[in-house]
Amino acid sequence: MKAEETPRRPCDQASRNNEARLRRLVDILQHPSDTIQEFLDYALKQAIELTDSRIGYIYHYSEATSEFVLNTWSEEVMAACQIEKQETIYQLDKTGIWGEAVRQRRPIVINDFQKENSLKKGCPNGHVAMTKFLTIPVVKDKQIVGVVGLANKATDYDETDILNITLLMEAVWTVTESKKVAEALRSSEEKLKAIIETSPDGIAISTMDGMVEFVTAQTVAMWGYDSQDEMIGRNILEFVHQSYHEKAIYFITEMINGHLTGAAEYLMVRKDGSLFYCETNANILRDKNKNAIGVLHIERDITERKKLEEELKDLVIKDQLTGLYNRRKIDEVLKNQKTETDRTDQSLAIIMADIDLFKRVNDQYGHLVGDRVLTEVTEILAKGIRKSDVLGRWGGEEFIIICTDTDLAGAMVLAEKLRKMIESHVFYLAGKKTCSFGVSQLRKDESIDALLSRSDQALYRAKDQGRNRVAAEI
Ligand code: GH3
Ligand code: MG
Ligand code: MG
Repeated sequence: MKAEETPRRPCDQASRNNEARLRRLVDILQHPSDTIQEFLDYALKQAIELTDSRIGYIYHYSEATSEFVLNTWSEEVMAACQIEKQETIYQLDKTGIWGEAVRQRRPIVINDFQKENSLKKGCPNGHVAMTKFLTIPVVKDKQIVGVVGLANKATDYDETDILNITLLMEAVWTVTESKKVAEALRSSEEKLKAIIETSPDGIAISTMDGMVEFVTAQTVAMWGYDSQDEMIGRNILEFVHQSYHEKAIYFITEMINGHLTGAAEYLMVRKDGSLFYCETNANILRDKNKNAIGVLHIERDITERKKLEEELKDLVIKDQLTGLYNRRKIDEVLKNQKTETDRTDQSLAIIMADIDLFKRVNDQYGHLVGDRVLTEVTEILAKGIRKSDVLGRWGGEEFIIICTDTDLAGAMVLAEKLRKMIESHVFYLAGKKTCSFGVSQLRKDESIDALLSRSDQALYRAKDQGRNRVAAEI
């Protein structure tokens, strides 16, 4: 008797089956596939071959929604299927026999499919003809997560098929889950990369000891370097102006200690040494044990904003025509100076200056020439005062000089000097102009209003006595 004619013993058959199943399993698990879809397509093909079936499908199942979501149908079914509209989501309660694996939570075998069966709800027109049918639920952590269906084996489906497919699908599902995680990770990594690359802000990561590990192209552009490599490996403080190092260290220490610090402004240094302002949002990066492993920095160039802020600040405190402090700012300076004077026992004097017969300039030469006289007077006064004096435009053609640490005599000397400077100046078109001055010194316990009023009276007297003179209200 020839060897191949030896009747198969049941244990031979079982071990062959085992071997076939294991080989398929190894084959499936090693199958290179880019997507889960491709992997499950391949697994289904193997399941069909392993059971000698002709057709099959794999559905995902959600216990939360009682819904089946089609993952894959075997190619042959797709080719043979005439149903025009193939649903991809099915509600459990609308399913016929192939939902039984979920309803009964066990494998279902029907080897005489054409016979009447109470479980069959009937196939839609065009459904591929069925003879034998096996469906098995895939269970993970006591939850049904999918169903596999196989049909039209030449012989009856038996326990071996159930065992083979159960084991096969369990392994397939485990791989699918890990592929899903990997796919989700890859997709979130891609999203993150797109966000980082699109961000108009500069993004950088430094180690805990301040070494730059990562910078975006935008960061490189903001700091005026030529490549990322030029920034990586250097200490992050090299990109921050010296005067802000203490602040940076303080903020990072606060963050490490878990105190949220929000946005902070820093003066930064470009490669060429030029400076710019950044608003920095930083955060500590931590590992899974919550240990700090780095610092994430998001940098926004706020040079333009700073410029606008400065302009706005100027607009609030300065007079547009002369660029001098306006009355509002002068009021503030006077208030502060009084506090300082009271505290230190120093003297404080003020000089009011008013252009003589200024109206005539406007009347004779027009407003523009009048404006020009005002700016020329400003230049003369600014040149004549000391660094510690504060000059402001008090009104139309009236100026004020706050003389810190100065008594009445000192202020009168200064006023006289200024009077002479103006008197000797030749103004554009307007020619010769003069100014009258009223000087006063802050008395003990006197208010600023009272001081101003005494200066005004002095100025009035100077006008009254013939203009182009200095008068003091003692
Ligand atoms: P006095 O010697 O008594 O001070 O005579 P005055 O003509 O200088 O005094 P008056 O207060 O009568 O006139 C001040 C004028 O200053 C009136 C106003 O039209 C003019 N003036 C005020 N502000 C401006 C300004 O910003 N530009 C110009 N061109 N003129 C101004
Ligand atoms: Mg005047
Ligand atoms: Mg006036």
